[in-house]
Amino acid sequence: MRDTVWQQRIRRAEKLAAAHSFATEILGFYVHVARFQEDLYRRNPERAAEFGRFLQLVEEHGPERVALVAQRLSPAPPQTRTSLLETIWSGAEPSTPEEFLAFAYLQPFAEFSRGAAGLHLENYSTAICPWCNRKPAAGVLRQQGDGGQRNLLCGFCLTEWPFRRVICPGCGEEVPAKIPVYTAAEMPHIRVECCDSCHGYIKSIDLTKNGLADPLVDELASIPLNLWAQERGYRKFHPNLLGM
Ligand SMILES: [Zn+2]
Ligand SMILES: [Zn+2]
Repeated sequence: MRDTVWQQRIRRAEKLAAAHSFATEILGFYVHVARFQEDLYRRNPERAAEFGRFLQLVEEHGPERVALVAQRLSPAPPQTRTSLLETIWSGAEPSTPEEFLAFAYLQPFAEFSRGAAGLHLENYSTAICPWCNRKPAAGVLRQQGDGGQRNLLCGFCLTEWPFRRVICPGCGEEVPAKIPVYTAAEMPHIRVECCDSCHGYIKSIDLTKNGLADPLVDELASIPLNLWAQERGYRKFHPNLLGM
């Protein structure tokens, strides 16, 4: 039997956690989230009632600040949880810690629904997810012909769609000097693509440099690059699954 996408991500997360001590805690937590997501995906993609079980997992395995949010949310009445899930499902961008938990919980449902919807992406060229209208959470460079093609990746439904390479997905800036790209020696396959016009940034995972990378997991792992970009005044277009 082939590995599921979650098993692949878990293996990648474990490998990165062992190699990078700065990412051990967050990836350890991610492994628990991914196992839960897989379990949920297998059982029944409509069981919103399972949100309580997810909150329990976050309380047990999340970093302290996230565990506290789950603890606060656990005793909330069912309507509160349902409306939280509906808000995120209907396309609102998560901004509070509670909304990020709902976002992480709902992600496999979005992935499943998108897979069933059968998207056609020919001629699609905007920077917004064609399935759920969210801003991209990461970029992916894949080998195509002699060069690399850039795709954008939705952090919710995980749709990946092609997007021109030398242009800011936030504001459309095309002047190369205004869209600098930075890399760090520690993780040379992660590009921090910044924009000096809208002050946004996105991390792109360069699979032409590291074919073992998993866009979702490697984006999570490269925490120091977030701090680096934030210190220089750049803001991520869309936070990742764990709200970073
Ligand atoms: Zn999407
Ligand atoms: Zn921009």
